[in-house]
Amino acid sequence: MRTHTCGELNKTFKDQEVVLCGWVHRRRDLGKLIFIDLRDRYGITQVVFVPSVSPDAHTLAQKLGPEFVVKIKGSVSVRPPKNVNADSTTGDVELLAKELEILNPSKVPVFEIDDHIEAGEDIRLTYRYLDIRRSKVREALVLRHKVCQAIRSFLNNEKFTEIETPVLTKSTPEGARDFLVPSRLTPGSFYALPQSPQLFKQILMVSGMDRYYQIVKCFRDEDLRADRQPEFTQLDMEMSFVDEEFIYALTERLYQYIFKVVLNVDLPIPFPRLTHAEAMAKYNSDKPDIRQDKSNAKEFAFLWVVDFPLLKYNADEKRWDSEHHPFTGVNPQDIPHLESGAYEKVRGRCYDLVLNGNEIGSGSVRIHRRELQQKIFDIIGLPPEEAQSRFGFLLQAFEYGAPPHAGVAYGIDRIITILTGNESIRDCIAFPKTQKGTCLMTEAPSLVDKKQLKELGIVTIN
Ligand code: ASP
Repeated sequence: MRTHTCGELNKTFKDQEVVLCGWVHRRRDLGKLIFIDLRDRYGITQVVFVPSVSPDAHTLAQKLGPEFVVKIKGSVSVRPPKNVNADSTTGDVELLAKELEILNPSKVPVFEIDDHIEAGEDIRLTYRYLDIRRSKVREALVLRHKVCQAIRSFLNNEKFTEIETPVLTKSTPEGARDFLVPSRLTPGSFYALPQSPQLFKQILMVSGMDRYYQIVKCFRDEDLRADRQPEFTQLDMEMSFVDEEFIYALTERLYQYIFKVVLNVDLPIPFPRLTHAEAMAKYNSDKPDIRQDKSNAKEFAFLWVVDFPLLKYNADEKRWDSEHHPFTGVNPQDIPHLESGAYEKVRGRCYDLVLNGNEIGSGSVRIHRRELQQKIFDIIGLPPEEAQSRFGFLLQAFEYGAPPHAGVAYGIDRIITILTGNESIRDCIAFPKTQKGTCLMTEAPSLVDKKQLKELGIVTIN
């Protein structure tokens, strides 16, 4: 329908006949002259309607309201120097309209499509399609896309295979509350949505896939904060025959690549490292912000925090829990402590990546031997029958030649939030949920028919 986009025209198109499509961003009616700013994803082009050029188009242009969708044929005219708008890439031209077609009128939008208008978040989320028309939100989504493409191209080049894992599955071991999905075909049984692909990615290592990644949704039914969503996206990775040094080096090169390709920033590597004990002693935090100037949004300070304790004591329940998850490897020097029961002294082979004071990822070298895994289950009080019923398939897989392996997962939403200088991860997700876990646009979660509940065996009464 169009020959060009609204972000494309400049002086070099002088006198060319073109067709643009887009939304009426703004209209100024000066009587004889009507100006509109025509907007699409790529930019804004000024269009002018003059009665002597096209009386019909000029008359119809009087009816245009904000956000009407239009198609305009016209010729590109170069603006006199005093009218040039230096702030816009198309600011040295305007389109002299010859034909106007209204493709669709629009109700008056509930808030102005303008980056400087601060509409409340609830209204923006209810009308998210209007919100995404604003360049701030759109640019975050485009940057997110670029980061994901950079991740893919880097990892593909490093011989990784992107593999999908199930969404309808069994409870996974990240320690949060599960979202459950009732099974119609097995009444009374439930799938859990994965808190991460942890078990599947480890099994893929047993399968010999060697290097796996996936940009994947994870689901955790937790109380929400500004940097949490019930469903969020991870870059999930797992590798065979590697140690922590390999993961650090690969990760550093990955971020260096992303920053170069997406932001044209040269990120210095290697990233500094602190042990968990050092971080706590020096910053009283396991995710310290080591930026020189904390208010500088353009400063990116990555930091590895390593040597976390393997186990933490749960005083309420008087037992030991895994600090990361129960598949985390044990620092070989600390095996004697594991045997003597000095659990607080045992360091796990796990690491966190911190960016500007935010934990943006974590991972570990895994346990790949059955006996050690059993020992950890014993310590965290997971009886063999329960370990069997929860992770039996993984334990069984480990009996068929599990290679040493390690992995990590990075939180895409958080990374994009930091890169775009936004405050909330909701600003970097196309259709986010509120702090209460609701989607204001679709009104999910919502009540369902009694009939559906009956089919699922959740209610039996009529
Ligand atoms: N599955 C872990 C997580 O989601 C990351 C990992 O150990 O690879 O935190």
